[in-house]
Formats: sequence, structure tokens, C-alpha cells
Amino acid sequence: MAWTIEDSAELYGIPFWGKGLFEANKAGHLVMTPAGEGKGKVDLYNVVTELTERGVELPVLLRLPQVVEGRLDLMWSVFGKAIEENNYRGRYRGVYPIKVNQQRQVVEDLLRVGRRHHVGLEAGSKPELLVAMAMMDDPEGLIICNGYKDRRYIETALMASTLGRETVIVVEKLSEVDAIMAVADRLKITPKIGVRAKLSSPGKGRWQASAGDRAKFGLSALGIVELVEKLREMDRLECLSLLHFHIGSQVTSIRTFKRALREATRLYVELVSMGAPMGMMDVGGGIGIDYDGSRTTFESSRNYTEEEYAADVVMQVAAACDGANVPHPDIVTESGRATVAHCSVLLFDVLGVETLPTDGEPMSVDANSPELLVEMRDVYDGLTSRNYQEAWHDAQDARIRAKQSFELGVLSLVELAQVDRLFWQILGRLRNIVREQSYVPDELNSLEPALADTYYANFSVFQSAPDAWAIDQLFPIVPIHRLGEEPVRRGIIADLTCDSDGKISRFVDRRDVKKVLELHPLKKGKPYVLAMALVGAYQEILGDMHNLFGDTNAVHLSVGDDGHVNFDLVIEGDTVEDVTGYVQYDRKDLVQRIRTSSERAIRNGILGKKQAAKLLAFYREGLDGYTYLGH
Ligand SMILES: *Cc1c(COP(=O)(O)O)cnc(C)c1O
Repeated sequence: MAWTIEDSAELYGIPFWGKGLFEANKAGHLVMTPAGEGKGKVDLYNVVTELTERGVELPVLLRLPQVVEGRLDLMWSVFGKAIEENNYRGRYRGVYPIKVNQQRQVVEDLLRVGRRHHVGLEAGSKPELLVAMAMMDDPEGLIICNGYKDRRYIETALMASTLGRETVIVVEKLSEVDAIMAVADRLKITPKIGVRAKLSSPGKGRWQASAGDRAKFGLSALGIVELVEKLREMDRLECLSLLHFHIGSQVTSIRTFKRALREATRLYVELVSMGAPMGMMDVGGGIGIDYDGSRTTFESSRNYTEEEYAADVVMQVAAACDGANVPHPDIVTESGRATVAHCSVLLFDVLGVETLPTDGEPMSVDANSPELLVEMRDVYDGLTSRNYQEAWHDAQDARIRAKQSFELGVLSLVELAQVDRLFWQILGRLRNIVREQSYVPDELNSLEPALADTYYANFSVFQSAPDAWAIDQLFPIVPIHRLGEEPVRRGIIADLTCDSDGKISRFVDRRDVKKVLELHPLKKGKPYVLAMALVGAYQEILGDMHNLFGDTNAVHLSVGDDGHVNFDLVIEGDTVEDVTGYVQYDRKDLVQRIRTSSERAIRNGILGKKQAAKLLAFYREGLDGYTYLGH
């Protein structure tokens, strides 16, 4: 049967992790529907064409603020529904933790599209707070201050409240209270204080260390009691307004939330019964992303929806409060990953492919051929689906003996190369047989990745997808065109850096993790462009400049109701001058050094004056250029 676009969609899992945001269109292109179902579509291949015409080179990071809007609408709608269904009397108030993506344009867009919900901001450090208080101009939005604090941080937070922002300082350590009160007294304001609880119910998954007795953050039960006593002694218990917990990021199982909520809601009602006014229950972030579309508790997935999460939060808070006759608090979430992960897609082109010599006509042998070559050819000719495991052993053995014969001077280099070539051809046929089997013995499972093509791609893993390197995080990768064509090659992706870790060799799959990705053979003179999706959370800020590959170009897109795609903003990526500047090279000094060297070369007669001028111009142009490869 002929390959269809639906086959590609299924193969890459587009409907499963893409969930209505991504799909394959009739042209075989990957398209996005950023404004939601029934609204305009963005054909990513056309976007690349448009950008190329505008002189914007790949790699490009696309950001779609309408996606963030959709994510915020989703949170407010699921909480709204849960509040209604449970006759809940508190409000829902979401804040965005800016550490997840602090890029100004991202934060600006988020505050703009979230204005009608009064979305707030969460800061975890002084610099983040200085940004948050300048960017937030909605008096109904919250600013939550987390993280370890010095006097200056506390002063800044209280300044923000004098600007009319509802600012809550969340106490992480008891010692912060004295500083808060001293500054508040000086400024003559009543601070709003929260307390971060160190829950004893363990977190789960990669960030489990964010909770539990030995967690880095928050106060234990003992610490919370001490805090209340301290505030009472100071006669400032009326300041205690919020209970906060955050159990970690990418929480894969809803049970982890349920357990944390049970403990935290008990703490909340106890705090009220101890005389604290409270009023806000801040359940932190942690909502996961189903990166692989499997809806499981696998680390790159999650087994719940936002709707289930909201229902659990509202129900448990309501139940605990009703049981203790405590008024319903406002519910605050600090969802970061789930707010922005979907909004960014990295587009990058493939520069070339390296293939092992598994194909082609096998070497013919005759009476004069070395014995080992004849032996290899026999293995090749005799290979069937019944003896393939044995053939695998024979081929390996013959290859080892060929190497030894070469070292002993028995086999020439050309003959060794011929044996090698036959060896790869045997492996190629073996792989084709193995693909047909329903069961494959363990030792042959690594054949596919061992024979995979290497697709050299124009981006840096360290800059654009650092979590793929640092914590083996999976991101969906899909060609943005040719989806109507069967992707007959199997490959891994290598980036531009001179680092053997600069590659991607694990790919999303609903059933497992793929060790190779199905890809198309390159066409001469034609670009082959891949998308890495769901990279909006954490990747930009955690990215580094390995090999001095800098920020990529970034483009903000939106789609009108008429389906027209607007290029709202093009943010040029780092130039070579920018990245060399980060490591303290000065443009003028670099140019001066080149000038000095060229003067010396002119003196020594190895460089003409005109050539020297050209060289200098060329060098300057290099400093102005993009750090990635051009065409
Ligand atoms: C990082 C962080 C968040 C955001 O977590 P996500 O998993 O991205 O939702 C929220 N609150 C605090 C305190 C954090 O440190």
C-alpha cells in the first residue's frame, strides 16, 4: 500500500503529542493551529520559505503567543469549571514563574494575552523580581516572591507593593521574617507573607528532591509552627496570607499531586485554626507535558489532563476547608512548563547525511581472492531469516580475523577494506531481516541504531535543547515537509558542536523510546527542514554557548481569523561579535590584531595590500555574521 500523510502523522505521533496544535496537511507539511480549533493554520514549510525570502536564516525559533493565550484560557476554564461544580467560594489566580522563560518578548506577550485573567508573575531571585515589578502593571495580578532572600530582595518586594502590586513574600527560611518586618516597619506597610511548606510526602520523578524532609526549600511542620509563634510574638500574625508548596517539575503522575494536596490542605486549615488569616493556597507548578503523547507516567509524559488536575486541587482544598469550617481560600497555581512549552518550535535544516556502506552490489570473489573475503561472501550469500543470528556471529568473527591478518601483514589494506565493505553489506541485509521479525534476540536489538544514518543538522543541542543533553529529555522531532513520502531512512541527529554529546539519539514514541528516527533521503540542492517541538519551557535560558553558537533567530507569529499569517516580530540571533563579546573579546581589538598580522605579512611579502584590505573586510563581515552555518 502506498504511504500516506496519515501514516506519517501516526509514525511521528503528531496527533498524540500535538493534540490539535500540530497536524500534517494535504501538502505533506507540518502545520500549527495556534489560536485553537477552527482558526487559522500556520504552514511551517511556507513560514520557512517566507523567512528565507526576508533573509532570515535557519535555525529559527518560532514563538506563537496565541498558543500561550490558549494555555492560559485552558487553565482558567478548567479551574472555573471545577470551582462551579464544587460550589467553591474562592477564586482561581494563576501566576507565571518567569524562570521558565524570561525572554522579554515572551513575558510581554504572556502578560498581554493573559490580561483578561489578571495573570500574575512569580520571581525566584532579585533579578527576576526587578523584571517582574517593571513588567506587571495589572493591579489585580499577583507577584509572588520565592527563593532565598537577602535584605535587598525583601526591600525590593516591599517597594513593589508600594507601587500598588499585590506582592506576597514567601518565607523559605525563618530568618527572613526579621528582615521582612524591619523593612516593613521602616516603609510603614503591612507586608503579605506566605510560607513555603516542605512536605513530607515525597515528590516523584526527576525533581523528587524538590519535596520531602531533606528538600532544599521550605519549612517543615516544626518550622511552620515556629514561624506562627514568631509572628504572634511580633504581633504580626495578620500578615500570614498564603501557604505554598511546589513539589517539582514535570510531575508525571496525578497521585503525586493528590498526596501532596492532602498534606498541604491539612497544613492550611491548621494555620487558620492557629489564628493566621491566610486566604491563599498556592499549589505551585509542576504540571507535566505529554512530550511523547503516551499519556503514561513515563518521565517524558503524564497520566492526567489539566482538567483532572484542577478538579483534584479544587475538590481537595474544598474538602479540607469544609471539614474544618474554614473559608475557601483563593487558589494560586505557578504553572510554568505547562504554560509556555507548547509556544515555541525550533526549525533547523539538515546539512548532510553520513551513511554506512550497507547498500550496493556485493564484492565478487574468485579463486585468487583471500580466503577471508570468500568466507564473508559465503555468509552474505547464505543469509536467510532462519540463520541470521548465526550469520551475525560468523560475520563478526571473520571481521576480527581480518583485522588480525592485516596486522600480521597477511591482508593488504585494499583487501581489508573489501572485507569491511562486505561486512557492512551483510549487516544491511541482516537489518532488513530483523525488521521483519516479531521477536528479535537481544544481541541484535542494537543493530538498527548501529547502522543508523547520521543527519548533520544546523543547530546546537546545547543552545537550543539543553535538556536533551543534560537530562535525556525527549522533544518531538518531525520533518516539516515531505510527509506524504515514506521516510525510508533511519537516522540520528548530530549537531554542529565539536562534542560527541551534541547529538540526539532518543526519539519520542508512544510505546517506548525510539533509538532511531525515520527520515527521508536528502534531495540534491533541496533543503530538508526538521522541527523540534514543545521547546518553549526552560530550553532558552538553560541553553549555553558551547563552541560559541549563540542565540538563534527568533520570530513571533500570529494568525488572523482570515488565516493570514503575520510575522509580528523578528529578533535577530547572536552575531559572532555578540558571542565573542560574552567571553570578553573586543571587536576593535580583534580587528586590530588582524591588521597587525596583515601588516607583518605585507612586509614579509606574503600578502598584497589589496588582499590585506579584502581580508580585513572579510573578517569584519565574519564578526557581523550569524553563528550558524549559511548556504
Ligand atoms: C520552577 C518553579 C515553578 C514552575 O514549575 P513548572 O514545573 O514549570 O510548572 C513553580 N514554582 C516554583 C517555586 C518553582 O521553583
